[in-house]
Amino acid sequence: DAVVHWFKMDLRITDNRALWEASEKAREAGVPLICIYIVSPQDFEAHLTSPARVDFMIRTLHVIKKDLAALDIPLYVEEVEKRKEIPNRIIDFMEEWGASHLFANMEYEVDELRREAKMVRLCTARGFSMDVFHDTCVVPPGALHTGSGKQYAVYTPWYRAWVAHVHKNSELLNAFEPPSRNPPDARDKVATLFDCDIPDVPENKKLPDEDAKRLHSLWPAGEHEAMDRVEKFCEERIGQYTERRNIPAYAGTASISVHLAAGTLSARAAIRTARARNKTKKLDAGIQGIQSWISEVAWRDFYKHVLVNWPYIWYAISYSACPHNSISVNTLLPFKPEYSNIEWSYNASHFVAWCEGRTGFPIVDAAMRQIRSMGYMHNRCRMIVASFLAKDLLIDWRMGERFFMEHLIDGDFASNNGGWGFSSSVGVDPQPYFRIFNPLLQSEKFDPDGDYIRKWVPELAEIKGKAIHDPYGRGAAVQAKKAGYPKPIVDHKESRDRALSAYKAGIGRD
Ligand code: FAD
Repeated sequence: DAVVHWFKMDLRITDNRALWEASEKAREAGVPLICIYIVSPQDFEAHLTSPARVDFMIRTLHVIKKDLAALDIPLYVEEVEKRKEIPNRIIDFMEEWGASHLFANMEYEVDELRREAKMVRLCTARGFSMDVFHDTCVVPPGALHTGSGKQYAVYTPWYRAWVAHVHKNSELLNAFEPPSRNPPDARDKVATLFDCDIPDVPENKKLPDEDAKRLHSLWPAGEHEAMDRVEKFCEERIGQYTERRNIPAYAGTASISVHLAAGTLSARAAIRTARARNKTKKLDAGIQGIQSWISEVAWRDFYKHVLVNWPYIWYAISYSACPHNSISVNTLLPFKPEYSNIEWSYNASHFVAWCEGRTGFPIVDAAMRQIRSMGYMHNRCRMIVASFLAKDLLIDWRMGERFFMEHLIDGDFASNNGGWGFSSSVGVDPQPYFRIFNPLLQSEKFDPDGDYIRKWVPELAEIKGKAIHDPYGRGAAVQAKKAGYPKPIVDHKESRDRALSAYKAGIGRD
């Protein structure tokens, strides 16, 4: 007999609930623990997983394989082309190794939940057991509801309930130990699995060498790196988080989203590490920077709860898999159904200018070049470019959502959908539709010296003073033109009026 842990987006061995439970089961039964991870190119395609993210996951698997091998536990990784075949492949694997217990952490996306349900059915039919655990959120979805028993659709009261729930159930923040070592005889039974190699990144997701090199140095993989990052941030910068989190030129945030998305860091560990620096165990008291950082980490839980409560938001991305200018709007569902009727523009040249960072709005272009280069974009800039796409260009927000998933190394369906819904005003607890960011004011406020723009838009690097925010409108036109920087593709005031009319007409308001 043997116990199998199925790794998914929980790519760490410390503080991994299902892995720990699997290890306990194996220890009690005196049988080996085996770990498996399935790489499915078709799954990556269906979920728009970016090459940067796939590459990060494969690099992480190497770290896990090594760490598990030190505990005499094998990690077996196999490529299965068709995603529908994954459950059957896992069952076959269990049969090959005489395993009858499967453990996994739950993923809340609709496809994944369906797959998990299928897995449970298959296990039951074979007389195997399958145990699935809540692990990715600090507070499991379904645990919080309003006084009248409804789901929260507004962040602030949800957050109050989230904090109260964690205070009341403090064990939610406890860490799970790494798995116990396989005893020597158990190790011998599964010895051949140690020799299996981890497959390479699938062809459809391979990064060009130059990009791979850059991303490897920017985003080292694995849980040790994740803990180092969060500890360093909490030691050095969390105290100033409130004042500095909105300045993209400054490293004021933790840069751990890639780790939370891949599961190389647990949300529990992030919060524990921050709490340990505070003067109090309360999450909503003490040092301001710590409080506000914890409330940001909680946004991640919030959007996962939203996905579980209203899974129809997922259909948005599943049906948007069509060419940029032929999205079938009727099948796409924003959180707010009344926002389904907005007449979006599908102006291909505007969309391409946005994707390529050539809109003539320096802050927007800097941000779009950052995502293309780093697989990451600062949160303030994510809001600026999302608002610009949906409101200034009036382009269907789902095209932006998709572009982000295809490029982000930290792409996470729930947070991305939530962020786009917020910025385009069609989502849960959104920015009101009439609040339209002025890119110039955002630029002056959050990149006052233009350092972020100069870093990412080298054509403008020599432009001095405030002209950096709007070279054509502020006396640096000759210089900008000479450097090949484009003129603004829209006039903000006109596009603002156009967006207000389109939103009002779409939602049937005067
Ligand atoms: P920090 O400020 O240090 O925050 C710590 C952690 O808290 C983050 O790593 C993240 O896990 C969580 N967090 C912070 N802000 C948010 C937020 N607004 N929503 C959800 N979680 C948050 N985040 C993703 O992880 N994946 C995405 O695909 C994603 N897409 C986004 C799209 C848009 C349009 C917007 C506006 C936001 C999106 N975010 C996404 C949220 C946020 O921008 C990133 O989590 C953040 O920039 C990551 O940087 P950090 O780790 O330095 O964050």
